[in-house]
Amino acid sequence: MRTLITGGAGFLGSHLCDRFIQEGHEVICMDNLITGNMDNIAHLIGNKRFRFIHHDVTEYIYVEGPLNYILHFASPASPIDYLELPIQTLKVGSLGTHKALGLAKNKKARLLLASTSEVYGDPLIHPQPESYFGNVSPIGPRGVYDEAKRFAEAITMAYQRFHGVETRIVRIFNTYGPRMRLNDGRVVPAFLGQALSGRPLTVFGDGSQTRSFCYVSDLVEGIYRLLLSAEPEPVNIGNPHEMTIMQFAEHVQKIAGTALTIEQKPLPQDDPKVRQPDITKARAILNWEPKVPFEEGIQTTMEFFKKKMGI
Ligand code: UDP
Repeated sequence: MRTLITGGAGFLGSHLCDRFIQEGHEVICMDNLITGNMDNIAHLIGNKRFRFIHHDVTEYIYVEGPLNYILHFASPASPIDYLELPIQTLKVGSLGTHKALGLAKNKKARLLLASTSEVYGDPLIHPQPESYFGNVSPIGPRGVYDEAKRFAEAITMAYQRFHGVETRIVRIFNTYGPRMRLNDGRVVPAFLGQALSGRPLTVFGDGSQTRSFCYVSDLVEGIYRLLLSAEPEPVNIGNPHEMTIMQFAEHVQKIAGTALTIEQKPLPQDDPKVRQPDITKARAILNWEPKVPFEEGIQTTMEFFKKKMGI
């Protein structure tokens, strides 16, 4: 099996590279390294079944030889990244997905698109089932990511229906674990980094907004099962264990073991007030559900950041 992973040097992409190498695949990892990092795949360099190609997938993608699978994971993925890289975010979701689909069509490969819970926007239905169409502002600051991913889903379904390309779509909810960037602005690395360096935790708004955090190994297992399944329509993969951001801050304070303070900051525009995946579909068709308890996943992630920070 030969598998191309776009965004393969990123947080999720690099864990997928590991999983597909483990499964015996030959893995081609493609990344332009604007948010990905070679450190994430350093341990794979030198492996005969692994190859890294430095390339921006919004440009024509050339891959020599056959391909069985394409996992399209290239994209900035944290609110801070896509605010700083709005055009690249729009381009990789639209032009990049188009290129990846064109390659899948040429190679007769199956393509799995990394979509997101952001397609539901600031949801008016809770928890969010795949049938919900979402509540997204096309012109707000998050629109560059949300609309690019919504377009990516649309063009993926069009290639499936019109060209007969085999496609899968995963809607990924908040995921955390080792290899997140300390400074990517997302709440998990932000709070853990702040706790480890004795700084106040920056809670945006009153902290009553909710998220549901999934540990990366659970997510990878769900994605692997979805890729091998026969499901042509989007599937939510995430952990339904929901908490407020304030509860999350309190948990981080507890495990950090020091008295920490909270610094309240303004809530960013269009920040979703609630988010929780309805995973009925994944349970039924993939026989999948998350296994790693939150306390354990956060502890492992904390250990990773400690090492990174030389603590
Ligand atoms: N958040 C926060 N402090 C931070 C970073 C994020 O309170 O330093 C909040 C943010 O406003 C959001 C939630 O935590 O409500 C999750 O944010 P994240 O950036 O991780 O991703 P999102 O789920 O919004 O895409």
